[in-house]
Amino acid sequence: MTPTLAHDAAARRTAAVQAAAEQELVGEDQPVIGLLDAAGIQESAAELHAAFATPGTAVTHTFAVKAASLVPVLRLLAAEGVGCEVASAGELALARAAGLPADRIVFDSPAKTTAELRAALALGVAVNADNPQELARLDALVRETGTASPIGLRVNPQVGGGTIEALSTATATSKFGFALRDEGATDRIVRAYADHPWLSRLHAHTGSQGIPLELMAVGVRAAYELAERINVHARAATGRQQITTIDIGGGLPVNFASDEVTPTFRAYAELLRTTVPGLFDGRYALVTEFGRSLVAKHGTILARVEYTKTAGGRALAITHVGAQVATRTVFDPGSWPLRVLAFDAKGRPKSGEPVVQDVTGPCCFAGDIVAHRRELPLLAEGDLVALPDTGAYYFSTHYAYNSLPRPGIYGYDGDANEPHGVRFTTVRAPQTLDEIVAESGSANADALTGPR
Ligand SMILES: *Cc1c(COP(=O)(O)O)cnc(C)c1O
Repeated sequence: MTPTLAHDAAARRTAAVQAAAEQELVGEDQPVIGLLDAAGIQESAAELHAAFATPGTAVTHTFAVKAASLVPVLRLLAAEGVGCEVASAGELALARAAGLPADRIVFDSPAKTTAELRAALALGVAVNADNPQELARLDALVRETGTASPIGLRVNPQVGGGTIEALSTATATSKFGFALRDEGATDRIVRAYADHPWLSRLHAHTGSQGIPLELMAVGVRAAYELAERINVHARAATGRQQITTIDIGGGLPVNFASDEVTPTFRAYAELLRTTVPGLFDGRYALVTEFGRSLVAKHGTILARVEYTKTAGGRALAITHVGAQVATRTVFDPGSWPLRVLAFDAKGRPKSGEPVVQDVTGPCCFAGDIVAHRRELPLLAEGDLVALPDTGAYYFSTHYAYNSLPRPGIYGYDGDANEPHGVRFTTVRAPQTLDEIVAESGSANADALTGPR
């Protein structure tokens, strides 16, 4: 009897690894691939909706495209009622290619060009301005275009950072948004809303991985309190509620240590309900922008062990997963540790006494190591290693070092008629050698040697 796909995500992943090995989706020809659990992504989207659902409050969930910049992922999420948060013309193009309507797209970025702003306003996508100069440009464009785009300001509540400096967006000196606690800042922001009556939103994204939930909630509370103050002012002056929508950003951290999903969307939403009850009393529409927490746990990098050896008494496995697909982990291993699961060449989980090993990658620099001194069953030539929890910011965000190709990415889903109950679909074809050559200037081969 063909086994059917288990409901449990870890069992689904194990079945997918085995099926990928047996079908030679991973192997000599393609020594590293990305795998995506479509059902898992759908489950996370459903959990997100359930966690924030509040009678009388309109909630628009958007997905931070940078977390998995793959059109099929955006379309899957769109089908689950999740829009897109974009931070570049490229990400906006991906959202449009996925079929997202303008009213489910939010455009954030600290460095939007005038042309990008004009295009966003022409489409009618929501825009959050990062700084006073951008606000001035928007002012001119709004007059010129008469846009329907909802527009807000991004504020930095300056509530402090988390354990990962590079991802802490709410420190005193963070580059993002209008700094809220600087001398006189609140008054200036209140005045900016009064001077620009078309501003109708307020945005704060307090951080990403490494930020405690409590700190995120304090950041949201600061944004809410500012919205209240702006609205008191606006009501006194014009009789209307100027800010109608609060965008609370994303940033829910992900557990990389086990298969447990923690913290959950529910835990965060409940914390917000107690920390900022006014957010849910029906006076505001809400926007969220979660990235990592929607997809990280549903992606796996699967790579071949090409060789094994020892050096200085250390066992080394030379694999095809390195900085090109696990960039953050290789360059900042302390902040981004990943689990490594060992499989044999047939995709069966390896057993055996744990041996301390370095799991290294294919890139030609000494630090290209995805796991240092890790205890694993001794890896052998032809085995496979899987790196779970890599659905966000890993294989979708390739680093072109050594002209290594962008790996193929495959979705997996249950299908009782397929071997191991798994059916694969191509999410993104692997980059070909011809593409690498073309993207490396081959059309301009004579640019530096020809007549000048
Ligand atoms: C990156 C980012 C997000 C998503 O962050 P995650 O940690 O992936 O949830 C949301 N909003 C903005 C403005 C961002 O820059």
